[in-house]
Amino acid sequence: MDRTHAVVVGSTNWDTCMHLPHLPVPGETVAGGRLQAGIGGKGANQAVACHRGGADVHFISAVGDDQTGAGILAEFQTMGLAVSGIKTVPACPTGVACIFIDARGENCIGLTAGANARLTPQTIEQYRELITSAGVVLLQLEIPLETVMSVAQIAAGAGVPVVLNPAPARALPDELLAVVDILTPNRGEAAALAGLYTGSEPGLAAAAKTFLDKGVGRVLVTLGADGAVLFQPKAGAGQAPATQRFAARAVTAVDTTGAGDVFNGVFCAGLVRGLSCEQAIEEAMVAAALAVTREGAIASIPTREEILAFRT
Ligand code: ADP
Repeated sequence: MDRTHAVVVGSTNWDTCMHLPHLPVPGETVAGGRLQAGIGGKGANQAVACHRGGADVHFISAVGDDQTGAGILAEFQTMGLAVSGIKTVPACPTGVACIFIDARGENCIGLTAGANARLTPQTIEQYRELITSAGVVLLQLEIPLETVMSVAQIAAGAGVPVVLNPAPARALPDELLAVVDILTPNRGEAAALAGLYTGSEPGLAAAAKTFLDKGVGRVLVTLGADGAVLFQPKAGAGQAPATQRFAARAVTAVDTTGAGDVFNGVFCAGLVRGLSCEQAIEEAMVAAALAVTREGAIASIPTREEILAFRT
């Protein structure tokens, strides 16, 4: 087995973003909107980021048998992302997010999971070999938890590193954490998952320790413009975890939506291309910094050439 490909398993949505002067209250119609629509969903964003980060990616996901789903598959193909792992679910709509954003950047979102809810452990069985022969498997939490569990257990059983971006945050069973190599929450997700305050350094370390104590290999917390911090267990019971800080690249942020998705996708691309964890973090930082200087989700994800040009 060559273990040279990455597998990303997760959601695909059609995002309809409308920029409005203010958010509507119940019963109100707000005119003057600017529409921005495109592919979204954490799975899709991370798969595209991983692909643009230079990895051979197999994306396992689901769309509905509607025009939206067909359009998304065509767009993935144009991007060069393999679609053989994307199931078209009969008599089911594609997942859709309707997002209103006001002039200050506040938003409210309505979501229908559509086909994402139908990405079941049974579907995953079809891709078992793809998963067990991968160099890394990347997961998030916008598909059924039982599917996330099943993929993680199949991967871990074959010695494939599992990276879990626990977003959106939800309670996670210990059996899942026990098979995760690298957990990548942002600060808020780390707080929600650990049930601890993470606004301080000791709080963040305490949250990371709860995950490490449950068997997670490493915890990589992203901190927005403050960069990221990597926690690894130290030998000896009761020891505080070893901590490594990574500074974010200084840029003028325009739209930070999806920064974490770019970070996770490019980080895993680095790992599967043979970079060390630290090198992969540095590359992910560059890609995420570039992405926040541009509007949009998929549209803002930089290519490998852009990442390399920014680094030098
Ligand atoms: P999420 O989008 O999941 O909330 P973060 O906000 O923590 O994730 O951002 C993920 C990564 O994106 C950060 O670790 C950092 O590298 C990069 N990033 C986010 N915001 C900025 C910013 N304003 N300037 C530079 N880099 C940023």
